Amino acid sequence: MNEILLLKYGEIALKGLNKNNFEGVLLKNVRHRIKKLGRFEVRKAQSTVYVQPLEEVDLDRCEERLSHVFGISTIARAVVAEKDFADITQKVLDYVQDILPFVKTFRVEARRSDKSFPMNTPQICAELGGILLEHYPHLKVDLHDPEVRVFVEVRDFGAYVHAGAKKGAGGMPVGSSGHGALLLSGGIDSPVAGYMMAKRGMQLCYIHFESPPYTSERARLKVVALGQKLTEYANTCEMFIVPFTDIQEKIKAHCREEYFTIIMRRMMMKIASRLAAQNGCEALITGESLAQVASQTVRAIGCTDAASELPVFRPLIGMDKSEIVDIAQKIDTFETSILPYEDCCTVFTPRHPKTRPVLEYVLKEEEKLAVDELVEAAVAGAAKSVVILQ
Ligand code: ATP
Ligand code: MG
Repeated sequence: MNEILLLKYGEIALKGLNKNNFEGVLLKNVRHRIKKLGRFEVRKAQSTVYVQPLEEVDLDRCEERLSHVFGISTIARAVVAEKDFADITQKVLDYVQDILPFVKTFRVEARRSDKSFPMNTPQICAELGGILLEHYPHLKVDLHDPEVRVFVEVRDFGAYVHAGAKKGAGGMPVGSSGHGALLLSGGIDSPVAGYMMAKRGMQLCYIHFESPPYTSERARLKVVALGQKLTEYANTCEMFIVPFTDIQEKIKAHCREEYFTIIMRRMMMKIASRLAAQNGCEALITGESLAQVASQTVRAIGCTDAASELPVFRPLIGMDKSEIVDIAQKIDTFETSILPYEDCCTVFTPRHPKTRPVLEYVLKEEEKLAVDELVEAAVAGAAKSVVILQ
């Protein structure tokens, strides 16, 4: 059977003048995701992307990969028919033979964007419905809540038959809403934050802070594995690994203990915004969620924010941990995130962190460090340690 995937757009379909740009990005992403699976023709028409194999391919894998591509609202796997009612009927009968014997109710739904096709949609539905009832006399038509819907779409390039579409990844195509740098730790939250921004069309790069020997090679590999998982949604991404040991040791040596965390987080922001800007990013992304830990109170987030030179997006800010975990499970990062390796944030954790820090005092503490030099050294170190994930 000659099968094809029909990918319908979600939100892009509503865009006005720049719809073409969004479509272009989506087509590029679709091609990129399946290029290793074989040769395909990928083209667009009427708010639909057609993915047609040009050789024997594993269409299940193709469908699975495309279900992670943002910008697609539904995916239907359809059989291609001639734009001729006899051929459409034959293809429908072939298609439903494994389905209709096992259900009691069905309906036919037709769409006709090629108005030169001689039958209109009510005629297609009535004729085909009649033929199916003849072949399967146990069936009844149920227009409101059928067990199976048989779709016939008569479009520009051909007619397509399928029995319903699956939900796609939704959102906007990655690369259509700018570049953001995700601060990626080994925890549960930050991969989910990256997923959410990629879903809104952001192309990501990753920034990870490590503090060897306090953090291990295995902890780094865990973060690389998380980044790798995310690229299934976010396309190819670069990961910058920032050497953070010196900074943490200096904070410990010179600053008051209750300010360790907040100063460390501000240093992260300074380094990340510098690195991000150098690499064409316009925003930072973190996995912070209000009130989750001491560094995520309104005050602490305010002090952290003040250190960034770029806008900071925190897509999880209003979410409960259980909601975040649900998404981590859905995108398959959860099991990796809970592997018990140390993160640099857990090194030198103060016993009583300030939950209501005052920026003025934080800045005073920070004066005890050679901030600019430390930031420069860390940025230079990160540039030497880049991992490309694809
Ligand atoms: P996560 O589960 O994402 O690690 P968390 O609940 O452990 O988050 P924190 O440790 O306070 O919270 O970190 C808050 C955010 O700061 C993280 O979501 C992440 O964006 C960033 N972050 C923390 N540690 C690192 C790190 N080692 N490298 C890069 N970013 C980090
Ligand atoms: Mg963490």
